[in-house]
Amino acid sequence: MQPLTNRSKAVLQKEMTFAEKLYLPAIINGMIITFKHMFKKAATIQYPEQKREFSPIYRGHHVLKRDDEGAERCTACGLCAVSCPAEAITMQAAERKEGEEKLYREEKYAANYEINMLRCIFCGLCEEACPKEAIFLTDRLVPTEFDRGDFVFGKDKLVEKVDDRVDVTRRQTQDVLDFKQNKKYSHNK
Ligand code: SF4
Ligand code: SF4
Repeated sequence: MQPLTNRSKAVLQKEMTFAEKLYLPAIINGMIITFKHMFKKAATIQYPEQKREFSPIYRGHHVLKRDDEGAERCTACGLCAVSCPAEAITMQAAERKEGEEKLYREEKYAANYEINMLRCIFCGLCEEACPKEAIFLTDRLVPTEFDRGDFVFGKDKLVEKVDDRVDVTRRQTQDVLDFKQNKKYSHNK
């Protein structure tokens, strides 16, 4: 039969030598490899004491942004959920009541908003789909948890705090920054 690749190897059934039966050559070879690695630069780092420099376009923990006055930008339009290939986003819309203008930017807002971080593949499509500049992926790491249920992040973990804003400018392209300044769009006025 014609082989598809030249990677196949015929299996040898030859008798093992006395040394091979003692596994000595294999142990010595293994020790040599270990010894060589002692003089090489370690591929690992001592996390969390040491941290790696991330790529400027690293996509991590999402944030739901507030506007300059502190109102939540998300209007629960659902476009992020529809564009999510992993079906990781769910939300429940609610109507803004009188007196809540300072809390929510638009008449409709997300009463619940959840991202399942175990489903998310950090593709960034939710960020691209959002017409309100409400959701961004940041350069923050998603914290580790012990229970699967704790990886479903709700608004408590996603919405930025009024007095502790999350800087998302590092990951934004010039096009996005221009868009944010463009007064043609009502949300920039
Ligand atoms: S980053 Fe991608 S996979 Fe994750 S929630 Fe957004 S659209 Fe879904
Ligand atoms: S984050 Fe953006 S796209 Fe998603 S529901 Fe809110 S406004 Fe719509």
